[in-house]
Amino acid sequence: MYWGSVRFYKQLIILVLALVLILPTTFAVRLCVENNRISKELEKAKTDNFANFILMNQNQTEYAWQSTNPETNDPNHEYEFDLEYQNLYPELYVGNIPVTVREPDAVYLTFDDGPSDLTGKILDVLMDKDVKATFFVIGKYLESEKGKNLLKRIAEEGHAIGIHSYSHEYREIYGSVENFLDDFYLTYNLISDITGKAPEIFRFPGGSINGYSSTIYKELIAEMIRRGFVYYDWNVSSQDAALHTSVRQIYNSVCLGTKQKTRSIILMHDSYDKGNTLKALPQIIDTLFDNGYYFKTLTRDVAPVIFGYSD
Ligand code: ZN
Repeated sequence: MYWGSVRFYKQLIILVLALVLILPTTFAVRLCVENNRISKELEKAKTDNFANFILMNQNQTEYAWQSTNPETNDPNHEYEFDLEYQNLYPELYVGNIPVTVREPDAVYLTFDDGPSDLTGKILDVLMDKDVKATFFVIGKYLESEKGKNLLKRIAEEGHAIGIHSYSHEYREIYGSVENFLDDFYLTYNLISDITGKAPEIFRFPGGSINGYSSTIYKELIAEMIRRGFVYYDWNVSSQDAALHTSVRQIYNSVCLGTKQKTRSIILMHDSYDKGNTLKALPQIIDTLFDNGYYFKTLTRDVAPVIFGYSD
């Protein structure tokens, strides 16, 4: 008889063993596939949301600007915005964000944290190579005569100037949107007074998304875009923010980094202890020229490189 026979029990054991092995394996594989799908969707949703967020705010900028532009509206009418910080510094507006362009093969050298003891030497190299760059400057260094003169020289020699905060104290400026605006406004006024031209671009200290701004960065970006300022992160780093980066490392980081991008916004630093950046600069410029790139300055109509977006 089959039921209850040795053969029956043998086959039953094999069947049970097979089920014990196959079922969890199938389940695990399905779980993996599903997990993968969900994380991909999440990643996409994150990017899409950020893109929508920026677009949404660009539209709001247009609205906000039109509402506050004295040429198109009654200048005596006082507009009230919902959020208190939106009423701070009503003159801190630079108009509509323009249609931005992406120029392939363009490279943008950017120097953060100056002016410093190094600025004059950087300017000498740039002049010697006939290259224009962009300086994101720190307001507190513009209080001295020396700082003022360096900023004037940067402007006179045709380089672009953007705001990089007044204090550069992350805890302070990223404490709230109000704090950021207070600090920003100081540098905005200093640059305007010294150069006669109001700055229209900026770089967030630490980049637009960093450990200090993580709780307010969306609100902060929305507010700055509403006011018409364009901010630039970077897609190539010289790695010179770290201490003791060698001349060779800086050169390699920039030259290899630019090769992987269609256009490059290159992060470098202009402070007294960045002598290696200065040393690497002439060779970097020569190599980038040899590789067919051309140097441009950042202006509001250059499409920004923004963390969270692929360029
Ligand atoms: Zn900085």
